[in-house]
Amino acid sequence: MAPRTASFKLVLLGESAVGKSSLVLRFVRSATEVRDEFSDFRESTIAAFLTQTVPLDDSTNIKFEIWDTVGAGQERYKSLAPIYFRNANAAVIVYDITQPPEASFDKAKSWVRELQRQADPNIVIMLVGNKSDLKASRKVPRELGEQFAKDEELLFTEASAKTGDGVDDLFMSIGEFVVCPK
Ligand code: GDP
Repeated sequence: MAPRTASFKLVLLGESAVGKSSLVLRFVRSATEVRDEFSDFRESTIAAFLTQTVPLDDSTNIKFEIWDTVGAGQERYKSLAPIYFRNANAAVIVYDITQPPEASFDKAKSWVRELQRQADPNIVIMLVGNKSDLKASRKVPRELGEQFAKDEELLFTEASAKTGDGVDDLFMSIGEFVVCPK
């Protein structure tokens, strides 16, 4: 029997330059099915849309529909974000471990609050501390992310879009969680 394909919508959130696009590109790099439907509008649009289909097991494929913000100023992004995460099944909220907490970790926390207020109550949220290859420049202790995620019942990981460390795992564990909730 042909495998079924379970699709879901995933949005990327976080301050600019934390590595959101790099994480997505790292994940879809090997994909045969990459679409960048809005590339003509990169300057003016809020999001780029890509899809990636990955087998979960013999009977199921997971189709990720990934929305990454592009070219939108922070203010515009903030006001449009609720439209962007409406109907999202999952959100990946990224911060940069090499910046002081107030630069992007605190912003990640406020995105969590925003989702708790405005997104689907069943949304699966993964908090990601990116740039784990730069441990020598670490400014956000791993425990800070871990504890916040535990308190708020989020999935959590650190990853590096540069080396690829943790990247496939993070997308696949969200996929599994959305498709086969425990
Ligand atoms: P975005 O604005 O959040 O989408 O961030 P980008 O993906 O554009 O990345 C911002 C900058 O950080 C770029 O110069 C990337 O090359 C760099 N970067 C992204 N991820 C990593 C990482 O894991 N490690 C290192 N060392 N640099 C990274």
